[in-house]
Amino acid sequence: MSAGLDLRPTALITGVSGQDGMYLARHLLSQGWRVVGTVRPGISSIARTAPYLTGVEIVEHDLVDTAGFGELLSRVVPRAVFNLAAFSAVGRSWNEPGLASRTNMVAVVEMLQCLLRHRDKNAQDVRFFQASTAEIFGSDVDGALDEATPHRPRTPYAIAKSAAHHAVISYRERYGLFACNGVLFNHESPFRGQQFVAGKISHAAAAAASGRHLTVSLGDLDVERDWGSAANYVVAMAAVLAHDVPGDYVIGTGTTHTLRDMLRSAFAAVGRDDFEDHVELLPHLWSATQAKALLADPGKARRELGWAATTTFDELIAEMVAIDVERIRTGVAESETYLR
Ligand code: NAP
Repeated sequence: MSAGLDLRPTALITGVSGQDGMYLARHLLSQGWRVVGTVRPGISSIARTAPYLTGVEIVEHDLVDTAGFGELLSRVVPRAVFNLAAFSAVGRSWNEPGLASRTNMVAVVEMLQCLLRHRDKNAQDVRFFQASTAEIFGSDVDGALDEATPHRPRTPYAIAKSAAHHAVISYRERYGLFACNGVLFNHESPFRGQQFVAGKISHAAAAAASGRHLTVSLGDLDVERDWGSAANYVVAMAAVLAHDVPGDYVIGTGTTHTLRDMLRSAFAAVGRDDFEDHVELLPHLWSATQAKALLADPGKARRELGWAATTTFDELIAEMVAIDVERIRTGVAESETYLR
C-alpha cells in the first residue's frame, strides 16, 4: 500500500495494551481495518502486550485527559471507537474511588461529548463501543441476567461503569449517536494478568507441573461466574458496531462455573487432581458487595448479531495453563508464538 493512500477504515481502541485491546486489535487487523491504539503515557503495560501488536499504530493518551480525546479524533479520523481502557480492578477501586470514577465514568461522558462535537463539525458519524460490565447488576441477583435487568452497582468500579452505561444510552437517544454498550461478563485469556484470579490459578497449576508449589488465596470456592474467552468476546464487540442499529448487548456464555471448577480444570490440564493442596481459604477476601453467582443471558446477541461463544470453559483454562507452562519452561514471558 502506498504511503498516504491507506483506504482501510480506521478503528481507535483505547486501552490497546490490555487483554481485550490486544485481542480486538488483532481481530480488526485480520478484518482489514487500520488500527490505532491508545496507551497511557509512561505507566502503560504496553511492554507486556507489544509482541502481539504488530501492525497497530500506538499513540499515547491518558483517558482522564478529556481535552486530548477531541484532538485524537481529529487526528486519527476513526470510523469506530472501542473504549476498552478502564480502571479495571474491581476490588482495588475501593482504594482509589476517585480515579475509578474519573476513568470509568467522567472520561466516557467527555468522549461522548467529543464525538458529538466531531460529528457536528465534520459531518462524520463515528460508532462508539463502551465496555460495560456484569458488575453493574450488583450482588443481589438471581437467574440469567439480560439487557433489561436493573442495575444495582455496589463497588466504585461498578457505580462508575453503570453511570457510563446510562450515558451511552442517553447520548444515543437524545442525539442519535451510534453508541453501544457491550455488557461483558468475566472473560479470560492467557494474557490475563496475575492480579486477576484466573491468572493466579492458571499460574499455580503451571508452577505445580514444573515442581514448584504456589498457594492461591481465595475467599470462597463456590462463587459462580459466567467465564468466557476474550478471543470470542472481541468478535462480539466488532459485531455490535457492525450491526445496522445501535443497541446494548449482554455478552456471556450462558453457563456458570465455580472457582472450584476452575481450580479442578486448571490442575487437570497438567494431569493433577491435588488442587486443594494449593489453595488457602481466607473468608475475609470475600466481600458482601460481590454477587455469589453471575450468569448471562446472551440471547439478544445470538438473535441480532449471530454471535455465540465458541470456546468451552475447559478449553479456555487448558489454553491458559498451557501457555503458562510454556512461559515457565522457556523463561520467556511474552512471545507472539504463544498465540499460534
Ligand atoms: P485490562 O487488561 O486491565 O486493560 C485495561 C486497559 O486500560 C489497560 O490497557 C490500561 O492501561 C488502560 N487504562 C487504565 N487506565 C487508563 C487511563 N487513565 N488512560 C488510558 N488507559 C488506561 O482490562 P481488560 O480485561 O482488557 O478489559 C477491557 C475492558 O472491559 C475494561 O473496560 C474492563 O472494565 C471491561 N470488562 C472486562 C471484563 C473482564 O472479565 N476482562 C469484564 C467486564 C468488563 P495500562 O497499561 O496503562 O494500565
